[in-house]
Amino acid sequence: MEFFELINEHGHEQVVFWNEPSCGYRGIIAIHNTVLGPALGGTRFWQYNNDREAFIDALRLSRGMTYKAAVAGLNLGGGKSVIIGDNRATDREAIFRAHGRAVETLKGRYITAEDVGTSVDDMEFVAMETEHVTGRAAASGDPSPVTAYGVYRGIKAAAKHRFGSDDLSGRTITVQGVGHVGYYLCQNLAGEGARLVVTDIDAARVQKVVHDFGATAVGPDEIYAVEADVYAPSALGATINDDTLKVLKVQVVAGAANNVLAEERHGDELHRRGILYAPDYVINAGGLINVCGELNQWTPERSMRKAGEIYTTLLRLFELSEAEGLPTYQAADRLAEDRIQGVGALQRTWV
Ligand code: NAD
Repeated sequence: MEFFELINEHGHEQVVFWNEPSCGYRGIIAIHNTVLGPALGGTRFWQYNNDREAFIDALRLSRGMTYKAAVAGLNLGGGKSVIIGDNRATDREAIFRAHGRAVETLKGRYITAEDVGTSVDDMEFVAMETEHVTGRAAASGDPSPVTAYGVYRGIKAAAKHRFGSDDLSGRTITVQGVGHVGYYLCQNLAGEGARLVVTDIDAARVQKVVHDFGATAVGPDEIYAVEADVYAPSALGATINDDTLKVLKVQVVAGAANNVLAEERHGDELHRRGILYAPDYVINAGGLINVCGELNQWTPERSMRKAGEIYTTLLRLFELSEAEGLPTYQAADRLAEDRIQGVGALQRTWV
């Protein structure tokens, strides 16, 4: 496909290529959709096999951000940037200031943040050239508690839909990955009396949740076969795949991880089996909500409250899925598209 065909395929608005030979900076900023607000999305620093791969990644990731913000009820659009290169580069000031200058040319149509291969320190360099950057040191801080609270509320919504009650006391919940988000998620769940079965490749992290919340530990490969009410993937992506589906014995899949489905057909399979899947980008939107709060100077309580609304969003989504016979991952896209269309329609009137 030609470049403009690719850009047009999912209706992207704009793609910027920026080249700074003095430091070897090669950056691509993709803006998918700004109907709801400025495009927000992090900067990925990655050694792609070729430029086309980088371009397609920027298109794919920016589109994902549009959907995530739309479903979360935020007034943000979707964008993302990629910097092509080895992310272990040590001379980072020039690269990230060059990136900041590229972002600045968009005058706020795009706001960046950290992502894979970039850090809070890199964003400080970006901020020397543009104010359109979030996730800086001394800003809204660690997003994990907000993300975890959103996931907890999402699990309650899934329980309400599947079991008729959102009370999690006595429910068995498996948590894969007890890192930043997983730890706080366990805290929320244990607080309500859920029985936790956890795993992590980091033994110290497992020990901490066993000690703090009375969780039962299992090995990393054993977690999929544990019979439970809910499986909460909170480590890696693609853990719902052909292999794990063979052994999974749960009613609900709802966790913090991104890209939970190895492929969309695995979402179809969950639907066919009656396993309720809370789509990843809906249930883990707390991180984005936290950034949005930073942009709008919300109090921490307000960001937390907004993350709590994931409960009602998911209930609506599950109802739509049931009414239309759609797998939940498709219902999520529908909710996002409906909101963008609805708000976009309002903008036809001059006020
Ligand atoms: P983290 O790195 O702090 O925690 C991940 C944990 O998973 C680590 O403790 C790691 O040891 C463990 N892990 C890695 N491979 C594993 C395996 N094979 N089996 C078991 N455990 C394994 O990351 P995090 O910030 O807690 O994020 C967790 C997930 O949630 C990621 O997929 C991330 O993309 C997603 N997410 C995070 C946020 C956020 O606010 N941090 C927001 C949205 C989505």
